[in-house]
Amino acid sequence: MTPLTLALQKDGRLSDQSLLFLRECGLDASPGPRSLTAACAGFPLELLFLRAKDIPEVVADGGADLGLCGQDVLSERGDDALRPLASLGFGRCRLSIAAPTPLNLDGTRIATSFPRTLGRWLDETGVRAEVVTLSGSVEIAPRLGIADAICDLVSTGSTLAQHGLKELETVLRSEAVLFANGLADEGRRATLDALLLRVNARLAAQRTRYVVMNAPASAVETIRALLPGLKTPTVSELAEPGWVSIATVVGVDVFWETMQRLKEAGASDVLVMPIEQLIQ
Ligand code: AMP
Repeated sequence: MTPLTLALQKDGRLSDQSLLFLRECGLDASPGPRSLTAACAGFPLELLFLRAKDIPEVVADGGADLGLCGQDVLSERGDDALRPLASLGFGRCRLSIAAPTPLNLDGTRIATSFPRTLGRWLDETGVRAEVVTLSGSVEIAPRLGIADAICDLVSTGSTLAQHGLKELETVLRSEAVLFANGLADEGRRATLDALLLRVNARLAAQRTRYVVMNAPASAVETIRALLPGLKTPTVSELAEPGWVSIATVVGVDVFWETMQRLKEAGASDVLVMPIEQLIQ
């Protein structure tokens, strides 16, 4: 298989979680503290450690085949040739407009490090505001009198609160994404497919739990109707006459309500286990 290169964040908010996610996909690399590259054991993937903002550019220029960064960084690059492959479910945050007091944004100045993304949002919503571009410490702009509002990344909202800012509008929802450039060739395709099999198996596993329970045989039909599992559940007889063990996979989004209904239907001794990989 043709080796691929993946650019990811060096020394930043997403770097530890990115390496952990790759490890959970069976892509294990052990970079030293100052390494700029690292090879994955047993898979033809080399990691390149870059500053977050350089990742889309390096991938677009063909310096790396794949990139992993926040959707915010990818959107700010605004390059249609960069193809998202998967949203990875970590590094969740939102790009929001905030100001010291609620205000009509028409005619205001908004400070941001995301001028293109904010510019697109202003065009789409028809708000006529001036964009003031800063490369950091955006929260301080209203106090300095150089902007009326800011547009910055928020997750808990505590940084905004510390600076006396209230969130007014959400411009973009972001999480870590894996993406590629459009430079497809046959050899690269095979490695990419093998990589995506691993990534999708891990993402599917994170959305599900393996559940094993005991139930009276008379309750099997009711329990089956409650279980939106992969196919039908596995039902095996217990040593005790009239009792069965039922094993299935349940989505985390409906997990607790399904557990409640299973108990009401007669299930007991319910064991819940995480799934490492789910290959469909
Ligand atoms: P860093 O450059 O190390 O601060 O990492 C910034 C990246 O982390 C952003 O591009 C986002 O994708 C992600 N992120 C997640 N939550 C937040 C947050 N509350 N503030 C800033 N960045 C965040």
